[in-house]
Amino acid sequence: VKMELCSLHEIVRELTPLLWADANLRGQSIEVKLDENVPDLWLNQKEIKQLILNLGRNGMEAMDEKGLLVLETKVGTDGVELFVTDTGPGIPAAQRERLFEPFFTTKTQGTGLGLPLCLSIMERHGGKISVASEEGTGTTFTVFFPFARNLP
Ligand code: ADP
Ligand code: MG
Repeated sequence: VKMELCSLHEIVRELTPLLWADANLRGQSIEVKLDENVPDLWLNQKEIKQLILNLGRNGMEAMDEKGLLVLETKVGTDGVELFVTDTGPGIPAAQRERLFEPFFTTKTQGTGLGLPLCLSIMERHGGKISVASEEGTGTTFTVFFPFARNLP
């Protein structure tokens, strides 16, 4: 896939109205917190858009009305982190291990292909994706773009 040096924040800002409209229909809200120090990154825009939409939609699908979805970026010493956090029910430990397996779904209309796709996208970007979840509190997916793979 074609990698370009581009702004992660521009991608997030482009998707915000779409996610916001979706959240609005569900009675949920969205908060976006962008670290102004995030530099441009080598990435495939189309794939990263898909990844953010997948994680955002999973978060919304997990939450009831009044749920809050937060998209946040942070620069670290060795890369940039993107967090997608929801106030949903969380994911039981036994399921957490299977999230990235193709066709694993708990939804009647689910494909179970969203997270496996996110994982392969981040592998192509030399990055990482991980999940932290607490039952009853919510879930955070963390996507990591390392600077090492992102030098021009
Ligand atoms: P699908 O959305 O089609 O089910 P995914 O690969 O996107 O497939 O997600 C797989 C499963 O992981 C979901 O069915 C759900 O059980 C779980 N999951 C993913 N994201 C969340 C989340 N934010 N909160 C709770 N469960 C989640
Ligand atoms: Mg999904």
